[in-house]
Amino acid sequence: MRRYIIILAVAALSFAACNSPATKDAKATESAKPKGKYYCTMHPEITLNKPGTCSKCGMDLVERDTTGK
Ligand SMILES: [Zn+2]
Repeated sequence: MRRYIIILAVAALSFAACNSPATKDAKATESAKPKGKYYCTMHPEITLNKPGTCSKCGMDLVERDTTGK
């Protein structure tokens, strides 16, 4: 029974260890929210404040639709 508890504790610890980076990633993603007026339709995370092309696929960036929605 004691061994079972230790296994549970280790599992809980590794779960917490696995969880922290995910939490950090979520925060990083949140702070990296698209700000630019122009974005790539394939890669919304690629944005620019002026017309340009996506640094990932080279597609022309499209102007963000600010009307409605
Ligand atoms: Zn792209």
